Amino acid sequence: MILDMFSLKGRVAAVTGANTGLGQGVALALAEAGAKVALVGRSPMDDTLARFKAFGGDGFPVKADLANTAVCRKIIDETVAKYGGLDILVNNAGIIRRGDSIDFTEKDWDDVMNVNLKSLFFLSQAAAKVFIKQGRGGKIINIASLLSYQGGVRVPSYTSAKSGVIGLTRLLANEWAAKGICVNGIAPGYMVTNNTEALRKDPVRYQAILDRIPAGRWGVPADLAGAAVFLASPASDYLQGFTIAVDGGWLGR
Ligand code: NAP
Repeated sequence: MILDMFSLKGRVAAVTGANTGLGQGVALALAEAGAKVALVGRSPMDDTLARFKAFGGDGFPVKADLANTAVCRKIIDETVAKYGGLDILVNNAGIIRRGDSIDFTEKDWDDVMNVNLKSLFFLSQAAAKVFIKQGRGGKIINIASLLSYQGGVRVPSYTSAKSGVIGLTRLLANEWAAKGICVNGIAPGYMVTNNTEALRKDPVRYQAILDRIPAGRWGVPADLAGAAVFLASPASDYLQGFTIAVDGGWLGR
């Protein structure tokens, strides 16, 4: 039956940055669809675990700072050791640094590139090795951005990293599709999370953004749930290298 194709029962997922925001929303959605979820991040997962408990979701925390790629193998190894395998990786963890390009520092460049792009690649590589060894394919979902499509201003490393994410999503799909691994992305629009706190505190910017969103509201983490479950499930088995915008219509405007 068609709805069975969206079930994640028996699947194992790892979601980075699962303690808050979009990562927490995606982790909850995958668990509600039946997956066991490794909750990966540098901060405590108490809030996410409490939300899992409320509906009997199966999750466990994996402590890792993705500023350093050395943790990538460890994240995948810990997940496999706990749940006996891996089927889904969601590369969600990300940071943003704002500053005029004329004064932008090398540290603000490297910090963002390391978390948003470099670790995403090496974590995908570590996951794909497991997928290939298991021989039952796998799903990688990369969280991109509107700035994968648009230039933005005063966020040079973020735009570069997120533009890289959409390209890398295509490349990895090209290399791994024949092995049954689907690599796709989600580009969220303007969402209410810590990432956009500074923007939302500026009443002029907040309203200007709101006025440009066809849906007439900012997004919330639950808005990613449907796209995430779709891309993690057999329902999307022939979808490859594509990034779905969940943006309330922003890019179409
Ligand atoms: P958020 O609330 O700031 O969440 C970011 C997540 O990434 C947090 O869990 C954070 O952990 C984690 N993270 C950051 N650096 C890390 C590191 N070195 N090691 C491990 N985890 C790290 O923002 P969000 O909006 O949910 O962001 C999630 C993703 O969506 C990001 O990739 C972001 O670029 C993308 N995105 C967001 C929007 C938006 O409007 N909010 C739009 C487009 C794309 P800590 O809590 O410990 O910092």
